[in-house]
Formats: sequence, structure tokens, C-alpha cells
Amino acid sequence: MDDCIFCKILNGEIPAKFIHSDGDTAAFYDVNPQAPTHILIIPKEHIASSAEVDSQNSDVWNKILGRAVQIAHELNLDKDGYRMVINTGEQGGQTVPHLHLHLLAGRNLGWPPG
Ligand code: 5GP
Ligand code: ZN
Repeated sequence: MDDCIFCKILNGEIPAKFIHSDGDTAAFYDVNPQAPTHILIIPKEHIASSAEVDSQNSDVWNKILGRAVQIAHELNLDKDGYRMVINTGEQGGQTVPHLHLHLLAGRNLGWPPG
């Protein structure tokens, strides 16, 4: 998608600090971190939001969730804990229309959010 910030990050037009990249997913540090560790895990395929996931592309859940859990494990976040968040749509707080999972850790995360 031409106008998508995250597609531009994937094709190198916008720099980002990557922690992971494979055929299907990428992970990079959020430019405006909301916790000491704040990583975004995204599918390489442009999917605008979780509302755009259907039976044709639902394997994306395994890919990004599995990748997030693996990264959390590799960064030793298991012991103290972490949070995974997917904002969807306007009231969900989504600002970038390319599906992404937030992995947040390193402080006590409040509940309920926002
Ligand atoms: P959302 O609000 O859509 O759930 O999350 C979008 C996230 O993308 C925000 O946490 C925001 O800080 C992050 N973000 C927006 N633009 C950029 C960018 O150019 N680079 C990086 N690394 N993160 C970005
Ligand atoms: Zn995109």
C-alpha cells in the first residue's frame, strides 16, 4: 500500500529499529514507546486492521501472536510479564491502518487501559 507508514517501514522508505524479520512477519521498536519495552509485530501483507481478517487470511493470527510470544521469550519478558494489544478502529485507538500487535513490558501496566 503506497500511503501506509508500516509498508514504507517494510520496504525501507522509513527507517525503524527491527528486532525480527521473516517471510511473513516483521517486528520493530515503536517510535513513541509507552513502556520500557514496546515492540510492534506486523504481517508483511498489508491488512488494514483485525476487521479485515477473514477465512482467507486468518493464519495471520498464528503468525503475529506466535512471533510476539517468541520475542517476549527471547527478551526474557516471561518472568515479570508483558501485555499484547491490538487496537482496532477509531474507538479502539488504532492510528496506523496496517494490522499490528503491540508488545509492551517493563513496568506495571494499568487496568483498565485508557
Ligand atoms: P495504534 O495506535 O495504531 O494501535 O499504534 C500505532 C503505533 O505505531 C503507535 O504506538 C505509534 O507510536 C507507532 N508509530 C507510528 N508511526 C511510526 C513510525 O514511523 N515508526 C515506528 N517505529 N512506530 C510508529
Ligand atoms: Zn501497510
